[in-house]
Amino acid sequence: MITIIFGPPGSGKGTQAKYVSELLSVPHVSTGEILRREIAAGTELGKAVAPIMSSGALVSDELMVKVLESRLSQPDAARGALLDGFPRTVAQAEALLAMLKARGWNIASVISLDVKDEELKKRILRRGAEEGRSDDNAEAFEKRMEEYRQGTAPVLDYFAKAGVWVTTINGVGPVETITQRIAGIVGATRDGMAS
Ligand code: AMP
Repeated sequence: MITIIFGPPGSGKGTQAKYVSELLSVPHVSTGEILRREIAAGTELGKAVAPIMSSGALVSDELMVKVLESRLSQPDAARGALLDGFPRTVAQAEALLAMLKARGWNIASVISLDVKDEELKKRILRRGAEEGRSDDNAEAFEKRMEEYRQGTAPVLDYFAKAGVWVTTINGVGPVETITQRIAGIVGATRDGMAS
């Protein structure tokens, strides 16, 4: 069973995914985090993606599908995963549905976090100052937003047409309040599946 946390950069996907993956007892799979670890470890993959990530552009679909496939093949993901940062394009969404179909898995739900652009920018610049991520600056933020609007947002329509359940929630407020909103949705999905 796959649950997806979806939203623009700075919408709180990573923060929420940590809590929600515990709630669902499945691993938190963040493709951005996987790439950052590759960069930190100095691997070939890391070297190839570092400049792309810093600029705020998207890494190729081909590469990202491979990264996700390999992560989902690990034993801790045998019962599913919570995806954060994937899929980011319609091509990735198509690849994901094909991958899940081959395994007999489903997407339980897609939670889309809604946060206004101004607030997103404020959060990203704050995180840049606190954590020093190479893509948390004003210039890369604009590029990431452009990628989101053009490449990623259409994934929601694609999912809706494919019959995947998408719920949009307000992503502004205290972290615990938003976690509670998400818990209500994933709980309902899980109970619905069980009955
Ligand atoms: P994130 O940590 O999810 O904000 O991702 C940070 C950066 O990693 C993105 O701006 C992209 O450069 C790259 N990235 C992460 N996930 C993907 C993906 N599914 N497809 C393409 N690029 C990705």
